[in-house]
Amino acid sequence: MTTIELQGSGGWVSAELTDEEVSKSKLVPNIDKHFLASLEKLDLEKMLKHFCKTCDSEFDGPTKIQIEEKPNEPVANGLILIERGQYTCHKCNSIIGEYRVFSQSQ
Ligand SMILES: [Zn+2]
Repeated sequence: MTTIELQGSGGWVSAELTDEEVSKSKLVPNIDKHFLASLEKLDLEKMLKHFCKTCDSEFDGPTKIQIEEKPNEPVANGLILIERGQYTCHKCNSIIGEYRVFSQSQ
C-alpha cells in the first residue's frame, strides 16, 4: 500500500492505494499527478485525510460519499456505468471529487 494524494475538482483526498490503483489514478503515466476521477469508488477506510478548497482546510479521516445516480447505462467497450457520485466535505458538503463505477457486461 502507498499513500497517495488524489486530486479532485474541489480539493484532494489522501488515500492508501494498491500499486494497480496508483498507476490507474494517473491520467498521463509519466506525470506524477493522481486523480480521484480515474479510480472507482474508494473505500472510506482507505482515506486518511482530505482537503476542501471551500473550507480551505485539511481534515483527518474520510470524506462523505454522495451517490448521485445508479444509471446502469452501457458505455464504451462493453462496460456498464453502474454508479456515479461524489466525495463531499464533512464540514460544508462541497464536492471534493467524483467517482464512477463500471461493470463489465456479460
Ligand atoms: Zn468544506
